[in-house]
Amino acid sequence: MADIIQLLPDHVANQIAAGEVVQRPASVVKELLENAIDAGATQITLLIKDAGKTLIQVTDNGMGMSTTDARLSFERHATSKIKIAEDLFNLHTKGFRGEALASIAAIAHVELKTKTHDAEIGTKICVEGSKVIEQEPAVVPSGTTIAVKNLFYNIPARRNFLKSNPVETRHIIDEFHRVALAHPQVAFTMSHNGASVFNLPESNLRQRIVNIFGNKTNEKLVPVEEETDILKIEGFVIKPDYAKKSRGEQFFFVNDRFIKSAYLNHAIVSAFEGLLKGGFHPGYFLFLTVDPKTIDINIHPTKTEIKFDDEHSMYAMLRSTVKHSLGQFSIAPVLDFNRESSLDTPYNYSKKKITAPTIEVDRTFNPFKEESKPKQANISFPYKREKNAASWESLYVGLEDDTANANDNQHITFESEQITGKLFEDDSTEVRQVTFQLQNKYIVSPIKSGMMVIHQHLAHQRILYEELLKNITLQQAVSQQLLFPLQLHFSKLDMEVLKKVQEQLEHTGFVFSAFEEDFVNVSGIPVALIESQASQVLEQLITDIDNEVPDAGFSQNDLLVKSMAKSMAIKSGTRLNKEEREHLVNQLFLCKEPSVSPSNKPVIVTLDANDMDKKFM
Ligand code: ADP
Ligand code: MG
Repeated sequence: MADIIQLLPDHVANQIAAGEVVQRPASVVKELLENAIDAGATQITLLIKDAGKTLIQVTDNGMGMSTTDARLSFERHATSKIKIAEDLFNLHTKGFRGEALASIAAIAHVELKTKTHDAEIGTKICVEGSKVIEQEPAVVPSGTTIAVKNLFYNIPARRNFLKSNPVETRHIIDEFHRVALAHPQVAFTMSHNGASVFNLPESNLRQRIVNIFGNKTNEKLVPVEEETDILKIEGFVIKPDYAKKSRGEQFFFVNDRFIKSAYLNHAIVSAFEGLLKGGFHPGYFLFLTVDPKTIDINIHPTKTEIKFDDEHSMYAMLRSTVKHSLGQFSIAPVLDFNRESSLDTPYNYSKKKITAPTIEVDRTFNPFKEESKPKQANISFPYKREKNAASWESLYVGLEDDTANANDNQHITFESEQITGKLFEDDSTEVRQVTFQLQNKYIVSPIKSGMMVIHQHLAHQRILYEELLKNITLQQAVSQQLLFPLQLHFSKLDMEVLKKVQEQLEHTGFVFSAFEEDFVNVSGIPVALIESQASQVLEQLITDIDNEVPDAGFSQNDLLVKSMAKSMAIKSGTRLNKEEREHLVNQLFLCKEPSVSPSNKPVIVTLDANDMDKKFM
């Protein structure tokens, strides 16, 4: 057989190699920002257009490059940062592979302008698809500007695989956060399509965190500090009260390099043990400093993973340091005899509304009145599980009167109170039936054919879902005016997400009196919402949108409404009195699809008397 192996042409090899380094615009942002840091810059400007798809430009006031270096910087494995293999074990720079600029130049139009501080005149170089197409002396300020245009212009498949602009922007902002947090002593600005997104002056870490995540963050931070022979830990954890359901604010830096480590994250989670409600994640900004010889950052091309020589001691130290900090700031339970113990409400109860015990008195009960035939309630519902729940929202389009045919398709009939059959006679519209609560979670009610068990949380989700969806679609929400507007603080990033759904939120009943960079003033909320839930509902919504990243249109309404219904619905574990149970059941059966929750779980289970009979044989 003839020889078949060939060397790939350079441009093909370059494109393949580029794929390792550049997955999306955010990868370019990361590499350029890191190069600027490595060049000793104290002022870095990031400018993007169309989520980086059209332009990513980074300007720094760092050391700049000579004309020869400028040309060389685009060669693969061209780096000024290591010279011999041993240097790899004593790294103090972000870069070392000499691959980033070569990779970026292989798949974009790149323009580099640079000048060293002692040179009179600088250099301008244009590279397209790895080819230098222009090089000339240029009058430019000291430092470096690199503009990357039309990313993936020569790999249409890659370009087509890029996500929507909001998603790509979010990735870029994530990278920007990571570099900016690791270098508070460097000033950063970022703008997108001409609008300023961040303006971060030179500061300390606490100020940097606050500048990025909003003023309210300041009071949430608990300092963490520890130094031993092998490890220095500094930074902040977020007070457990402010923990979030998303993992957004979790930052580990090792020697000022952002890393991801499930193992170290676990150390923090275990330090927070007992302080967080279920489903909540600790927030942290932790900087670990170790001897570069004891880590290997070489194991992952995009370098967010890391290998420590002695992971176990790291884990133990991190855990105990964070635990100690939480304890010192009286966040963890501590033995303190001067403290009023009634203030220490367990987490599960501290947020509960205090309600006076209710006594149920039936004012219409008359023991001397003759018993009449039990009244039969004829509310029923199409008892089937909707397979295609996705089509839900279209139901309300152009639909004004939606309760008219709620009563056809009768399958289930309630039995009313047997002993005091007259109780409900004057109650004409609402259906009353025997209900009781099981484990503060299920509402059980006898029906003609046996027994019905309703999942209270899922049932309420269904009710709220349909109501909110109707409001959003018909744009006819009623809102309850707040006496004192709420000011809710969010990070700029979260505010961007909220901004995108502002209009839809208003259709559900929210009224915003101010929509600023890092807070909103809420002066009205949906009727079904309790004021104290407002912030949590919006926070959950942001998390859900982040995780699902829907595009505009129906699916976004659906996601928004699902998310709100879920966080607003009464929780399992909530005791419901008779009126509340009955109201819930009645509301449920006015729904178009009572039997299935918005997330497609069954809401109602029926137990047939015949089946029960069999059990007693
Ligand atoms: P690496 O950062 O791994 O060395 P890069 O491809 O990112 O590889 O950069 C190649 C070289 O170009 C760097 O080693 C550095 O000498 C030079 N360089 C890149 N960006 C800058 C910059 N902003 N300022 C000064 N020099 C730079
Ligand atoms: Mg680099």
